Amino acid sequence: MDDVVIIGAGFCGTMVAVNLILKSNVPLSISIIDRAEHFNKGIAYNPYSKNHLLNVPTGKMSAFPNKPDHFLDWVMKTPDFIGKDKSVISSSFLPRSLYGDYLKSIWNDTQKIAKSKKIMVKTIDGFVKELDIQGKKTIIRLEDGCDVLAKACVLATGNQPPRNQKIKNLDFYKSQKYFQNPWKIASVTNIASDLPILVIGNGLTMVDTVFGLLESGFKGQIHAISPNGFNLLPHEHSGATYTKLQEELAEPLALSQLVSLANKHIKGAKRHEHTAPSVIDAFRPFAQKLWKNLSVSEKHLFMARLRHLWNVARHRIPQQSHDKIRQLQIDGQLSVKSGRIIDLKETEKGIDVSYFDKQENKTKALQVFRIINCTGPESDLMKIDGLFKKCISRGMMQQDALNLGISADTSTFQVKKADGNVHDNLFTLGSNLKGELWESTAVNELKVQAEQLADVLCKTHTPSCKTELIYD
Ligand SMILES: Cc1cc2nc3c(=O)[nH]c(=O)nc-3n(C[C@H](O)[C@H](O)[C@H](O)COP(=O)(O)OP(=O)(O)OC[C@H]3O[C@@H](n4cnc5c(N)ncnc54)[C@H](O)[C@@H]3O)c2cc1C
Repeated sequence: MDDVVIIGAGFCGTMVAVNLILKSNVPLSISIIDRAEHFNKGIAYNPYSKNHLLNVPTGKMSAFPNKPDHFLDWVMKTPDFIGKDKSVISSSFLPRSLYGDYLKSIWNDTQKIAKSKKIMVKTIDGFVKELDIQGKKTIIRLEDGCDVLAKACVLATGNQPPRNQKIKNLDFYKSQKYFQNPWKIASVTNIASDLPILVIGNGLTMVDTVFGLLESGFKGQIHAISPNGFNLLPHEHSGATYTKLQEELAEPLALSQLVSLANKHIKGAKRHEHTAPSVIDAFRPFAQKLWKNLSVSEKHLFMARLRHLWNVARHRIPQQSHDKIRQLQIDGQLSVKSGRIIDLKETEKGIDVSYFDKQENKTKALQVFRIINCTGPESDLMKIDGLFKKCISRGMMQQDALNLGISADTSTFQVKKADGNVHDNLFTLGSNLKGELWESTAVNELKVQAEQLADVLCKTHTPSCKTELIYD
């Protein structure tokens, strides 16, 4: 039986293991399970294209909370960047594949430290289908039928594939011309170069998919449909940070007070040549605390009325990506519509799409030859067949009040059972905590969680462990 088994080897799984290795000073056995191609990269940092960029500048992507320049310093030592201007690189948006290389290099360096501390680290190429807890033991069943046993288990399962849209003809989803998972290269390859295609969704994944299609030599029409049309904003370069909010956010505030505060500061910020997104950036460090203070009904109201505005301000893209998308729109190759898919039907000629066009206020039709779902990671875990649905159905876990993830104690990362009590030895972090924390998706928050969870594991299993990192 392993001391700690981590399910998922993306950023979260990797950094929990790394921090645990760095902090522990007693021999441990750690196993980490994922599909081989995702090891140390996960979904986010295993892109199929070098044109898929980080949406956060280099200077803000360190994997360690107490070493803010760790990624930047690593980049500056790589052959392509030696001798370049550090301040320019710090504010640049580098390929996500490079970030995957960074995580791999942290992992490789840490393995040497593990060896010197007699910590056994095992990587298991597999996918977990079921979990069971018997007394102090967690039984982790893989899809090949093998079991892995753990004293403590960490669910670092991250981003789930997007949900299928509600349509009448559900049989359509069996079509070879439909791609539910936009992060796989198959979604943009082996495609006739001039026949129209439809992308469902107009967010960050749509941008990646459009670039992937162009790289594959696609020259045809790309239609993109989502409820709000194209609303992505570019990152603006501003050396200055909007700092005027801090004092006013010290006390717990109701949602209506937060909205008034945001409006007041957005107006005031213009005087300092700041825009609304920079005010939202100023809210960001407080977002988890503010979210926890809201009532469930306020959270529902936020999801219904304000989530979209928050996400537009929060999830910005590099200016060069924004320019490319705009150019494709001007040239007519990309046509962005705001609306809702009503039905999809495969015929001998292609795919008939029926959708409601919001601008024209009527139902319209399109014919396309491929559909790629870019609606973003699914967070309602009961809508996906698999590990979580089974665990929730059996009362081993519960969804949070908004069905954005699962319930957990966010100070210890212990997963809650259906009766509200926490599991002693089942932990989670990352996007599974979105309902508890709201902002629990980007490296900025996840690096802190990974370090804190390693502390919890370290104290539980190795009471004498150090709490100081020794990595550099
Ligand atoms: C396309 C994309 C781009 C992003 N870009 C940025 C960015 O530029 N900057 C930023 O800060 N954030 C970005 N993010 C946010 C991103 O979610 C986090 O930065 C971080 O990568 C999340 O790491 P994770 O380990 O929680 O999730 P993931 O990267 O999703 O990794 C989870 C891993 O768990 C594995 N897994 C899931 N279920 C099982 C199972 N049952 N058994 C075994 N393994 C399982 C998956 O195979 C996967 O490898 C991006 C997200 C996406 C999807």
